[in-house]
Amino acid sequence: MKKSIVVIKGDGIGPEIVTEAMKVMDRTAQKYNHEFQFTEVDAGGCAIDKYGECLPESSLKKCLEADSVLLGAVGGPKWENVEKNNRPERALLRIRSEMGLYANLRPAKIFPQLSHSSPLKDTIVQKGIDFVIVRELIGGIYFGSHETIQINGEDHASDIMAYSEHEIERIGRTAFETARKRRKRVISVDKSNVLDCSRLWKKVMHRLSENYPDVEYSDMLVDNCAMQIVKDPSQFDVIVTENMFGDILSDEASMVTGSIGMIPSSSLGSGTNGMYEPIHGSAPDIAGMDLANPIGTILSGAMMLKYSFGMEQESQDIENAVQKVLDEGYRTGDIMSEGCIKIGCCEMGSRIADHIK
Ligand code: NAD
Repeated sequence: MKKSIVVIKGDGIGPEIVTEAMKVMDRTAQKYNHEFQFTEVDAGGCAIDKYGECLPESSLKKCLEADSVLLGAVGGPKWENVEKNNRPERALLRIRSEMGLYANLRPAKIFPQLSHSSPLKDTIVQKGIDFVIVRELIGGIYFGSHETIQINGEDHASDIMAYSEHEIERIGRTAFETARKRRKRVISVDKSNVLDCSRLWKKVMHRLSENYPDVEYSDMLVDNCAMQIVKDPSQFDVIVTENMFGDILSDEASMVTGSIGMIPSSSLGSGTNGMYEPIHGSAPDIAGMDLANPIGTILSGAMMLKYSFGMEQESQDIENAVQKVLDEGYRTGDIMSEGCIKIGCCEMGSRIADHIK
């Protein structure tokens, strides 16, 4: 199969981790006789430096034309004072929105080899952590209007959160369909004791749940969910929630699994082209030092093969290769523990690629 993949390496550790993911994907293509054509485009801080804008139209056009997009990370202290509509993160919001990527899936799964890296007690970890957060990605407060004005001589800021029924319904469907391929349990997370948006969210989710009698459905308030993720994460299978709650809960979920560097994500809309990226940021503190963990990006590549290209076996091969390297005791600094062998980002990518044969 021939596939065109747009690559946004981005800023900070982005170029290092994406290079390793491309190495692993290339090896997979060789094994299975596929052709992956990678086209690099600029977006984020590096695009601001080169072109004065975080997302040149030519970069966006290539993303829209590609079979899928692989992203490292964007942003960093260098661009903190850039005008708000041209900040590096704006590039991602625009790509997600233009590509119609409303569903962000973030698995939170503990690798048995890394169970000691979880900050949770052994007794909790041993019950198992394996759930997916399905986050609505192109609505809610991040896409509402943002304003800072002067009222009575002081600054007054507001951000609008809005959702309509169809936006809730389509992400709800993604959650129920995802649950059908897993342990068939959906928990919808909201703040319906305070917010109108959440009351609508809950109403639509309840209505939708009637179409999925085979899936167990319940609701949970977001503050309770934040507590339950650290108290007993084994209770979760699929969590579905709106944009901002999903952003925060998925970072919490990544922490309980050990390292933020291990977790991939996919963003999909109604078609098969999507954007795949690790959940962490550009880690400017370790950029350019060969210290980054590329596994989250490599597993994002594996998700792309599975969800955008229907290459189940190829995707599984990459996951198995990651498991093998961890079994052999190789670790990047962020997941290092006693008795293991510390290696850099580049060697981690090469070792994973070497297991694909
Ligand atoms: P971060 O995720 O970049 O880093 C948090 C901590 O985790 C740092 O100590 C970092 O060294 C470590 N870390 C992250 N990824 C790692 C990896 N792969 N291997 C080893 N260690 C890793 O979060 P931050 O410091 O809050 O943000 C840095 C910049 O990234 C900011 O400009 C932020 O806006 C941006 N950001 C971008 C994205 C994105 O591109 N999707 C997401 C979040 C943050």
